[in-house]
Order: sequence, then structure tokens, then C-alpha cells
Amino acid sequence: MLCGAEKRERNKEMTVELICVGTELLLGNIVNTNAAYLAEKCAGLGLSCYYQSVVGDNEQRLSETLQTAVKRSDIVILSGGLGPTEDDLTKETAARVMGRELVEDAASRAHIEAYFAEKGMTPTENNWKQAMIPAGGIVLPNPNGTAPGVIIREGQTHVVLLPGPPHELIPMFEEHVVPYLKKLEPGVISSQTVKVCGIGESRVETLLMDLIDGQENPTIPTYAKPGEVHIRVTAKAENEKDARKLIKPVVKELKSRLGNNVYTTDEEVTLEKAVVDLLIANGLTVTCAESCTGGLLSARLINVPGASEVYKSGYVTYSNKAKRKILGVKKSTLEKYGAVSRQTAEEMAKGLAFLAKSDVAVSITGLAGPDGGTEEKPVGLVYIACSVKSQVTVKEYHFAGNRMAVRAAAVSAALVLMRSCMLEYFSEVTFGKKK
Ligand code: ATP
Repeated sequence: MLCGAEKRERNKEMTVELICVGTELLLGNIVNTNAAYLAEKCAGLGLSCYYQSVVGDNEQRLSETLQTAVKRSDIVILSGGLGPTEDDLTKETAARVMGRELVEDAASRAHIEAYFAEKGMTPTENNWKQAMIPAGGIVLPNPNGTAPGVIIREGQTHVVLLPGPPHELIPMFEEHVVPYLKKLEPGVISSQTVKVCGIGESRVETLLMDLIDGQENPTIPTYAKPGEVHIRVTAKAENEKDARKLIKPVVKELKSRLGNNVYTTDEEVTLEKAVVDLLIANGLTVTCAESCTGGLLSARLINVPGASEVYKSGYVTYSNKAKRKILGVKKSTLEKYGAVSRQTAEEMAKGLAFLAKSDVAVSITGLAGPDGGTEEKPVGLVYIACSVKSQVTVKEYHFAGNRMAVRAAAVSAALVLMRSCMLEYFSEVTFGKKK
């Protein structure tokens, strides 16, 4: 086994590896949200994660996977398999691989006793198995369940065992593992997120290719989110001030390359908040007419505190009749082009702007599926129109995924379109084309 110091020498960075244990994960019965959570948290701590594995409840395969992991990574985090039953064998296997005996931890036994007493239940014999800890391990209390977590340290290698249920794993990770990991690396890790919309992840990466290739400190991983891309600029330094100094020029460079597509560098600001802030800052009111999204756009806008300053009213015009009667879409338009069409979206937005006397009016019409698609108009086809002071822009989109995914993607796209239409309108006003 390579010792930790050799691994550090080779990698010059602290590496983490994730092993999620459970046959249910392999069969696809449950989604591996623990891996997503842990990977994102570790990246935020400045740890490099090069490997993730999923192993079933099988001692030999888990043992082989763990042996490989401790040879190549400084920190190995395992989730799942800490329960009381026969097939829960993470702790036993980890103890064997790390050459430790299992010994009873009195505090864990007392916690199990109290946990069952509080529920008016009696523990079964196999529950005591959960109080057995690899000798010398650091016990991580579990107030939300009976399985304690454990950290086994061997030289510069750290093996962290966490329970599978996310409501147990997440608080344990936040309260005990994060402070432990922070102590391993002297100095601080600080990050700032540059949030981008209107361009996809591959375009972002192309624009930043040289920076991504040369990244060391700060690192700039990109994360694709519905309708947007987040770039997390993370720096390691001796103190917060020095970390900020490293981050600042990188954020400036990203902003200059990505221009107006950057909608915020503030962690707390969401895309809908950026849109609401833009409306407030320019004294504009907004209204929505939604077909396939059934009010989701209005809900996202109204979720933003302060939306009442700008949001006037919204309409769910799902049927053709509603599109005609409420928004004034022409019968001939619906008959000739159909409800899901550029022309209908445009008439919806125009009618809406007139009806609501609103500066910004947005309409959405599309086919969320699963049925109703044709070769000419497949499921996922969505038209969104945005009118800013009567200047209307209509866009066609093709979204993938199930009904909910198409509807959610349409809402994100509408927010992006609203923002870009407003920015375009302001720039035209600024450069004198508009009064
Ligand atoms: P328990 O003490 O509840 O038995 P455990 O540590 O043994 O916990 P598992 O038996 O492996 O954990 O999983 C228990 C449940 O936790 C699973 O049925 C699933 O709902 C959830 N779970 C386990 N692993 C994951 C994962 N990687 N991502 C999301 N959920 C998970």
C-alpha cells in the first residue's frame, strides 16, 4: 500500500474517493443522491475526487474496492451498509481491510438503548452490532438513527464510514466530517460561484478552455443546472483574505469572457431573483400566461421575496378556448398553426400585455407529453414569447425528458428569455434606438 505521504507527493493535492454500498443502488431501485451530495461538498472543500464506485452488499467486492481506494486516495468516504442486518457489512469489511478489531463502544450502545426506549421498543440482538466500532476509530454520533459513523485513520489515509439514509448522512457529514476534513488541510478554502445563463455548458467550457486546462489554484469546475451553468471558483490559501485575492481576478476574467450571460456572482441569488431584481431596478411590471407549465413560472417568480413590487397577475390558459377568450388569440391562428406554435405564443404575449397593462408579458405554450407528439411537433416542443414594452420576441425550444422535466426546462428558459429581452431593450434605449 502506498502510504499517504507518497500519495500526497504524487498528487500534490488531497484526494477523496467515494464508495456507495448497496445492492439497491446497483439495481437502480434508489438514486445515488449521497454520491452527488458528497461529491459536491468535497469539491467545495477543495478536495479532488477522481473515483466513485457503487458496490453491492458483497463482502469480497467491497473489500477489493476499498483496498484499491486506500491505495490511491487520501480520504475514502463510504456510505451505507452500517445497519443491523446480515447484509450490512461495511464496518466489518472496513475493519478487516484496515487491520482493526471490532470493539464495543459504550456510548453507542447507550445511544441505541435510549433510542429504542424512547420509541417504546426493545432492541433485537442484532441491533447491538451497530455499537461495534473498529478499534481506534473516531465515533460519529447519529442523533437521527442507530448506526454511528466512524473515521478510521491510518497514517495519512482516512476512511470515513457513514450511514446510507440521507437524513442521517447529511447532518453527520456537516457536523462531524466537514470540521475533520478542514483540519487535515491547513489554511482555508474559499469559493465564489459565477452563475451563467443563456449559453450551455459546452459553450462555456469552450470559452474558458485555456483557463480550465491551466487551472490549479483557484480551480474552476463547471456545473450544468436546468437553464444555467454554475462555475465555482475555489481557492486554497493561508487565510480568507489571501483566498479572496486569488479568486477576485479569476471572477473578473470569467465576467469579461462571458459578458451579459453572467447573471450573478452571489451565492444567494437565483435566476428568478435576478429577473425580479432587474424588473424592480427598472420599475417594470410583469405578467405571465402559461399553458403547459400551468403556473410554474408564476410560482418561481412569486417565490422571490419582493416580487409583489413587480408581479401583476398570471393566467393559466391551458385550453384553446381560454387562449381565445382570455388572451384574444385568433381562432384562425389556432386552426391554421395550432396551439403549440410561434404564432399562438406571440398572440398570447401580445394579448396578455394588453389585458394586464404590463411592461413585460411572457407566454408559454408547448407539448410536455408523454402523448400528443407528432413528427412535425414532437413532445418537448415549446414556444415562449416575451413582450417588453410591446416589443415581442418568440423562441422555439426542444426539451428532452419526461413531462415534469419539459415543464421545468420551459420555465427556466422563460426566465432566461425574459432577462435577455429586458437587457436588449435597455441597451436599445441606452443607445438611442428607443425612447
Ligand atoms: P440503516 O441503518 O437504515 O440500515 P445503512 O447504513 O445500513 O442504514 P443502507 O441499508 O445501505 O444504509 O440503506 C438504507 C437506506 O438509505 C436505503 O434504503 C436508501 O433509502 C438510503 N440510501 C442508502 N444509500 C443511499 C445512497 N447512496 N443515496 C441515496 N439514498 C441512499
